[in-house]
Amino acid sequence: MTERKRIVILGAAESGLGAAILAQKKGFDVFISDQGIVKPKYKVILDKYGLHYEEGQHTEELILNAHEVVKSPGIPEKAPIIKKIRESEIPIISEIEFAGRYTDAKKICITGSNGKTTTTTLIHHMLKKAGLNVGLAGNVGKSFAWSVAEDEFDYYVIELSSFQLDGMFDFRADIAILLNITPDHLDRYEYNIQNYINSKFRITQNLTKEQFFIFCSDDDVTIRELERIVITAQKLPFSVAHIHRPGAYVDNNNMVINYQEDDFTMSLDELSLKGRHNTYNSMAAGITAKVLEIRKEIIRESMTDFQGVEHRLEHVLKIHGVDYINDSKGTNVNSTWYALECQTTKVVWIAGGLDKGNDYTELYDLVKEKVKALICLGKDNEKLIKAFEGIAPVIVDTHSIEDAVKAAYKHAKNGEVVLLSPACASFDLFENYEDRGRQFKDVVREL
Ligand code: ADP
Repeated sequence: MTERKRIVILGAAESGLGAAILAQKKGFDVFISDQGIVKPKYKVILDKYGLHYEEGQHTEELILNAHEVVKSPGIPEKAPIIKKIRESEIPIISEIEFAGRYTDAKKICITGSNGKTTTTTLIHHMLKKAGLNVGLAGNVGKSFAWSVAEDEFDYYVIELSSFQLDGMFDFRADIAILLNITPDHLDRYEYNIQNYINSKFRITQNLTKEQFFIFCSDDDVTIRELERIVITAQKLPFSVAHIHRPGAYVDNNNMVINYQEDDFTMSLDELSLKGRHNTYNSMAAGITAKVLEIRKEIIRESMTDFQGVEHRLEHVLKIHGVDYINDSKGTNVNSTWYALECQTTKVVWIAGGLDKGNDYTELYDLVKEKVKALICLGKDNEKLIKAFEGIAPVIVDTHSIEDAVKAAYKHAKNGEVVLLSPACASFDLFENYEDRGRQFKDVVREL
């Protein structure tokens, strides 16, 4: 009898559980280890499937005997257990790499510093409308592995973070989309942007001329990297500044998608997603739809009725003529740049949180032009206050969502906007960005 291969999974949350369920189904000896406390809802699932696990510790004897380790994207490379596994030369992969081995579905994969969830959700919406048997996976929806274990999809639209890409080696996308690259998570990349760029470009690994690579030609970092490396996939760029045929571009307030000598044209005013950043997201989705031969009526209808995603420039309420906008997912400087850029009136801007090594200078021009007051919301606002002294006319120091919203309410006048777009992570005061966004909405609704 041959020995069953042992798969150890680090992290007992969405992706870890998905990997465990799939590994169990494929007959592996499975063990899950989580250094933290496993959430009750996940314990119920672990018990339901009879999966072996530990919490509150990583027992080396139970981990270092693995043939392969599937690591949650949240666990950093510098964690002691990861160092030990590397020393033992046990391969470490991501849940996406693992699950990719067990499906023949066509995979549309989306990465970038910003816009991933929006674009992933929009493409999924389009494919569903077109009647395709399609699943949504990765950072949104069910984990990919879980879905591969339990569903039978012909297509997957998968959102990939750089952390997931770091654990991917043989996985191949059918359509790979790279939206943009701006500094983010540099704390996890030794503060070296090239490491982060390499990680994002892993989405193109293993592509041949049979597959497609969709990217933004207005993104300098992407373009510079493309001059350095060879990608054999069919390249389909999009831009608001240059004409790309084939590809996508903007002409006279129209989005044009050109593929195989055929044009799809739609006015930017008809798109349900507004703002320049969303034009990019819509172009990436539009090219994908054309490659998949989705009918023009369906593309048009999907781009018109797409509802957007919670916490992304989400309109909450209008109170005394002031619009309150929840962009809690604006967790880095670049996404906040776009959130401010598409505002057409004066803004009371709520920002701050856990700073990931931010350089705020990129925001100075927009803040001078549009922001009438900056409400800092974080445990420690010192860096933010220093950065905007003399740039924002008014700066208020707050440490709770209630105080931040109260201060914003005081400063905003009829016709203006209160925008929560923090440019920072949320973990100093909140559980995550969703928690921050929901608390913001709750407090606004109680004004
Ligand atoms: P991600 O999943 O990559 O974090 P989201 O779709 O959740 O991206 O959007 C996060 C924030 O980034 C949004 O709140 C919006 O302000 C901004 N954003 C969305 N799309 C883009 C884009 N293409 N370029 C820059 N910023 C964007």
